[in-house]
Amino acid sequence: MAENLASVILVGRPNVGKSTLFNRLIGSNRAITHDMPGVTRDRLQGVVRQPGIQPYEIVDTGGVTLDAGAAPAEGPAGIRGFEKDILAQADAAMQSASAIAFVVDAQAGLTPQDQYLAELVRKKNLPVLCVVNKVDGQEKEDEKLADFYSLGFPLLAVSAEHGYNIRALRDDLAQLLPERGEVELAEPVLKLAMLGRPNAGKSSLINALSGDDRLIVSDVAGTTRDSVDVRFEWRGQEYVFVDTAGIRRRTKITDNIEKFSVNSAIKSSTKADITVLVLDIVEGVSQQDKRLVDLLVTRKIPFFILLNKSDLLSPDELKKKKKEISELFSFCKYVPILEVSAQSGLGLNRILPLAKEIKRECGMRVGTGQLNRAMQEVLARHQPPATRRVRPRFFYMTQAESEPPTFVFFVSDADAVPPAYVRYLEGALRHIFRIRHAPIRIHLRSSHKKR
Ligand code: GDP
Repeated sequence: MAENLASVILVGRPNVGKSTLFNRLIGSNRAITHDMPGVTRDRLQGVVRQPGIQPYEIVDTGGVTLDAGAAPAEGPAGIRGFEKDILAQADAAMQSASAIAFVVDAQAGLTPQDQYLAELVRKKNLPVLCVVNKVDGQEKEDEKLADFYSLGFPLLAVSAEHGYNIRALRDDLAQLLPERGEVELAEPVLKLAMLGRPNAGKSSLINALSGDDRLIVSDVAGTTRDSVDVRFEWRGQEYVFVDTAGIRRRTKITDNIEKFSVNSAIKSSTKADITVLVLDIVEGVSQQDKRLVDLLVTRKIPFFILLNKSDLLSPDELKKKKKEISELFSFCKYVPILEVSAQSGLGLNRILPLAKEIKRECGMRVGTGQLNRAMQEVLARHQPPATRRVRPRFFYMTQAESEPPTFVFFVSDADAVPPAYVRYLEGALRHIFRIRHAPIRIHLRSSHKKR
């Protein structure tokens, strides 16, 4: 590590394309190969450089296929077929890395080996990007990514072989790394609102995340500390849960009654950057929960859903429930749904990074050039349909100065553009600008001329 750079390690089972990816990432920079004493595998290190980002080191340890004579790791089916020392090496290399690029193969889909490795990766408590390799065209991209959402990592589709999305990959990996420099710029406090029915586990989750029993779960009136906001630090970033008074203020009588005020819930969420809706996975989704989701979606409030108490279900039941709930919320596929357990700690490490990522997406600014190219691209892929033989003309698009991202199309006749086409525009823009989980707005304005 000559320049003392932060390093990103590539982790993935054999044949997912790590070596090709490694070479793509470093571009013309030659890889340095270290023959580590006592170890037969090569550890590849190279430096990733791209204008506008801090250079960083990329490390590939086990892009090596099995030796005929090597002993495969024993154990559950998930890890059979890994070579023990490859696992050990990857594990050791992760210790010294600042971030992990977890590589999977879109053609093969999610395998038990991926799941096993993902578990190891998760335990490292480092920022992770899941790189979905071998996506060779944009057509099926969403479909291919869908397989890997359950891992809970942010995803990026790439093709190492065809060079698709490699620039974006370099950017995204750089984003995972801590800023270098003498003065660490403190990020603004990220404000979170925790919503959900009584007993869903909001207090338990807040306690678990803030590492403090601030919100006393077994409720005795008058014993709780009276802070309305719970402020805490996690991995160097400050967070605050706003409006927690409403969470604690409940009596035994209202417990278990399916009742909470949707309006005051929405009010809390307007004080926060990101809203977290907690559902008890055993209880499922109530009418209020649905109404709340509807409102959050129509009001373009950035949020995600936690299915808490996952520890109470078997893996099969969990899968079934998750599927049911996802189907119920299929009208807002952009909203992430995570299975967690305040009790066992399952999935808790994914909550705050996800909140941060959605916040980042909410603040995304797209340059004029990129906007124009995007508009040409979406129009070329699908023309707006003609009504009464007149096809609405699209002149240009802009991004309004607001959060979440708001895109305004100037068109010859806004009323002549059908809602289905607006939905198409939304999907296409999400794809092009890679806004995965934040709400976005599309406005159409009638105009007579090009800018
Ligand atoms: P709140 O009303 O949403 O704040 O819910 P609480 O945090 O007070 O939790 C309600 C009950 O559910 C308490 O008895 C918790 O111990 C229990 N609970 C919370 N989270 C979990 C979890 O992940 N698993 C299990 N098994 N119980 C949980």
